[in-house]
This record gives sequence, structure tokens and C-alpha cells, in this order.
Amino acid sequence: MNVNLKRLKELGAIGRNLLIISLLIVAMSAAFVIFQTTEKIVTIVDEGNTMEYTFRGEKTVGEALLDNEISLGEMDEISVPLDNVLENEQKIEIKRGMEVKVVADGKEYVFVTAEKQVEDIIEKLGLRLEELDLVYPAVDEKLDLNFDEEIRITRVTEELDTNKYPVKYTQVTRSNSNMDKGEVKTIQKGSDGLRSVTEKVVYHDGVEYSRTVLEEKVEVEPKEEIKEVGTNVYIATSRGQTRFRTAMYVTATAYCSCEICTGPGNGYVTASGTRTTANRTIATSKSFAFGTEFYIPYFRNSSNRGIFVVEDRGGAIKGNRIDIYFNSHEEALRFGRKTLKVYVLD
Ligand SMILES: [Zn+2]
Repeated sequence: MNVNLKRLKELGAIGRNLLIISLLIVAMSAAFVIFQTTEKIVTIVDEGNTMEYTFRGEKTVGEALLDNEISLGEMDEISVPLDNVLENEQKIEIKRGMEVKVVADGKEYVFVTAEKQVEDIIEKLGLRLEELDLVYPAVDEKLDLNFDEEIRITRVTEELDTNKYPVKYTQVTRSNSNMDKGEVKTIQKGSDGLRSVTEKVVYHDGVEYSRTVLEEKVEVEPKEEIKEVGTNVYIATSRGQTRFRTAMYVTATAYCSCEICTGPGNGYVTASGTRTTANRTIATSKSFAFGTEFYIPYFRNSSNRGIFVVEDRGGAIKGNRIDIYFNSHEEALRFGRKTLKVYVLD
């Protein structure tokens, strides 16, 4: 009875152990079955296209791509290595690579990148962007795979440019009835002022693109020129109050009929065809018609009372110059050359 009891106990122990092992096997099998049959879900984002991949058991990233018929090109980037085993609710991101052309600083960069945002592409290329630089397309734009233009970086710099310019003075003319017509007196000399203009110059890739005036100031005010012009048109002559066209200062020289003065030919006939007459004949430039009368106060005590007539011309007589006829070379020499005030009579 004792033996039997002991044996029974032994048998019971074995049975318990077997039961435990069996239970364990069942549990493990169940766990395996559960593992194999439990659905897992993974999100694949392929360049903006999101898809969900459901699977059971164990899969690598590469297998998941195969199952979804997703192939990766050489230029493409994936966020998880292909041989990694997928975990439930994992997210895999694929960025498709593309060839991009960037034009900057006079160079063209062609390279392959999976970056899509313009700013990231530029950064990847190792180009620095300065604050004012212009980028096309804008830095925050995302390129799509069909983008076939180039990314352009325009370097923008600014500079201040200050230039000085003269400010022309103005002229003021006042009339003065105490001065003869034709006379001009400068009361105040004019002088130019100075203006400074500061501009902001914008350069695009080193070439001037625009100019904006920021400041403009007059540094030196111009000084106006003040002149007085005579308005008196009457002069007292032997004829009484005589009206004149203009008064002026001339360089007066003298000549006679000799060959030294008039060259070969008849020295007694004037250019107007009259006979040369002392105290009457003068030669002027063509600005004065033949017959024009000049009153020359210097000769007011001569027989002609200072009144001469334009009758002759001379090659050398130009501008404010007159030649006065004398009867002899000696007299002409004695007169010499004088600056005289003359009145051209009306
Ligand atoms: Zn002479």
C-alpha cells in the first residue's frame, strides 16, 4: 500500500510535469499563431503619396517595398534601411531624387538631390544665401518631379552713392534809366551753388539694377547775378536831343588813303562808293549798314561835332572795332588806337 501510494505520487508528479510542458507548448504555439496572424500596419509615404501596408509575421523594409511594387532608383532616398525589420505602425518615407540645375554667381551647378524645398537644395549644394539675395523659385517652394526650369540665385547688394552737382546761378536784370541803352553793369557777380544727391544703388549680380534718391540737399546756395542795363536812348548832340539805337565802347583805329593803310588801288573811294572824307567817313563791320550815323563824343569839338557816317569796310574790322578816316597818314598815326564810347544813332 505504501509502495503503491509512493508510486502513485511519482506518477502524479510526472503527469504534472508533462502537463506543464504541454501547456507551455500549447501556449507557445498559440503565441506563434497569434504572432503570425496578427495584422501589422505600416505607412509608406512615397513622395507625397501615402499608402498603408498591412502584413502579418516578419517583414523587412525591402520586402514591404517589393510587396507594394515600389522600386527605388539610384537617386532616391529612403528613411529606413532596406534590411530593417518593420515594426507595427512604422512610417517609411521615400524621397525621389531628381536632377536639379542651380545658376548662381555666374556658374551652373547640376546635381542630383532628393531634397524638394528650394532652400534645402541650395543648402545641400553648399551655397550661402545673403539676406537680400533673390531666389527663383522662392526658397519656401517645393519642386515637383516635373520641374524642368533652373533655380536661379540673384545676388543683390546695395550701396550708397553720393554725387555733387553745380546749381546754376540765376541772372537778374534791372533797368537803369541813368545808363545808356547798350550799357550793362554787373552789380553782383553770380556764382554757382552745390547740390549733393545721395542715391541707393541696387546691384543684381554686380550690375546696376536700380537707383533711388534717398537724400538731396543744397550744400552751397547759388548767388544770383545782378546786372543793370541802360534804358536811356537820348544823347545831346549838336542836333539837340538825339535818339540813338545803342551806346557801346569800341576800339577805334585810324587810316588814310595811302598804300600802307588801304593797299594798292584807289584809296579815295570807299567800299560804299563814296569819296573818303575826313570827319565823316568811318569803316565798320557789316553789322552796321552803310549810311548809319555814329556820334562819337570824343570828337564833339571837331567840325562834324562828332557825327560820322559808316561808308567803308575793312578786312580786319570785326566786332566792336571802327576805323576812322583821316586826311594824312601822319594824323592817322597821331590818333593811334583808342577805346571810345560811341552812339549808334537811330
Ligand atoms: Zn595811311
